[in-house]
Amino acid sequence: MSNIKFFKEENLALEMHKVRIVQKLNLLPIDERLRAIKEAGNNTFLLRNKEVYLDMLTDSGTNAMSDRQLGAMMIADDSYAGSETFYRLEAAVQKFFGKKYFLPAHQGRACEHILAKSLVKEGDVVPMNYHFTTTKTHINMQGGRVEELYKEEAVKTTSSDPFKGDMDLNKLNAIIAEVGSEHIPFVRIELGTNLIGGQPVSLSNIEEVSKICKKHGIRLMLDASLMTDNLYFNKVREERCKDMSIAEIARAISDLADIIYFSARKLGSAKGGGIVVNEKELFDQMKVLIPIYEGFLTYGGMSTREMEAVAIGLEEATDIDMISHGPEFIAEFARILQSYNVPIVTPAGGLGLHLNAREFVGHIPGEKYQAASLVAAIYIVSGARGMERGTLSEEKNADGSEHIAECELVRLALPRRVFTLSQVRFVADRIAWLYENRHLIGGLKFVEEPAVMRFFIGRLEADGDWQEKLVAKFKEDFGESL
Ligand SMILES: *Cc1c(COP(=O)(O)O)cnc(C)c1O
Repeated sequence: MSNIKFFKEENLALEMHKVRIVQKLNLLPIDERLRAIKEAGNNTFLLRNKEVYLDMLTDSGTNAMSDRQLGAMMIADDSYAGSETFYRLEAAVQKFFGKKYFLPAHQGRACEHILAKSLVKEGDVVPMNYHFTTTKTHINMQGGRVEELYKEEAVKTTSSDPFKGDMDLNKLNAIIAEVGSEHIPFVRIELGTNLIGGQPVSLSNIEEVSKICKKHGIRLMLDASLMTDNLYFNKVREERCKDMSIAEIARAISDLADIIYFSARKLGSAKGGGIVVNEKELFDQMKVLIPIYEGFLTYGGMSTREMEAVAIGLEEATDIDMISHGPEFIAEFARILQSYNVPIVTPAGGLGLHLNAREFVGHIPGEKYQAASLVAAIYIVSGARGMERGTLSEEKNADGSEHIAECELVRLALPRRVFTLSQVRFVADRIAWLYENRHLIGGLKFVEEPAVMRFFIGRLEADGDWQEKLVAKFKEDFGESL
């Protein structure tokens, strides 16, 4: 039996693009990395980019643009009102989603602001498969409450469920019966569910949710920010989608929704966002808010150059070769780490690779921030910058004690089409080394702890001298420099 691989046929990582512009990177020696992370208060948000070798903090606004996107930016038509660029973007959005009306906004959370302000009232309940940080805050600020209706598999770190983002239909029926449809302004489905590891939602599940919503006269809203990854997984994991084109799957999904919004920092691989609907009345109700909060109706806070790039980005979002890079590279990342028995979230999802810190550094108490400690250790040994998605990202309990997060994860985002396979392999090898030496990793404690959103700007220090010991062992194994 031959072991020759067939790559595209097996959905293995293979670049369907070539690199024509490069940006030089910097890999500091390990002593300087140790100094940099200490200066940054052990918080990767506070590192400077020149101290980072591979920036895996986020996939938001960091995706690579295509030559066609860059070319289109040069023909942008700058005007406050009525720019030709807007009409090109509007046409691209209408074609992609198949809906009539489009409102531009400067990014995803701005859409959430407009939608929450227009639709959510005091005491309302918004059922969703899983929350996103900014979404939840906007709903709460209107006096509404979020109900997460994820299925059990969603929060299990290891699973073979291909669609962990699916909504639990029994829970949806139950919540509608409990609070009444008049208190539910919309049901929200987040495609490529971000906070549980970029996990997709099946077309079949959206269909079922849509039926329930229709029966009760409730609108169905899609957060399509991570739609390209979701579409890729529909195509390769969902039997009924195998013979459909990406454009057909996209249309089948959006036909089931009443309201769709997206961050073009992800979907569209540029910068911006927007809301699409078919209902004229709803459109008119929301459109008055755009000039107040975003900008005039023909730019919504976006630069015309970015709008041209988003228009092309949406066209390219229906090309499997342009959207496969992320999920396939993440799957390869996962395969390498699994070959070293490193605990990760499975199945591999979109947007990034997720490590299970609770298992990786289980010897560190939860109150000393397992995932945050691991993020700092990864930066020290590799120069790669990840993001903590665990206890440190939670708000404390009312009595001042730590609220230990349900999932204690480290996210290594793979901005789309940005990194090469050898860079992925490099980080995976360093993490494997770290796993072998995990007993050397210790906890962190706050030295400056902001009252809200502490993970963004809080500063921490190592509990003891474990970081120096880690560096000493690293040098023993690899020598002085890298
Ligand atoms: C990133 C993201 C948002 C917010 O988008 P921004 O453009 O960063 O404001 C909303 N929802 C999901 C699912 C996201 O991943």
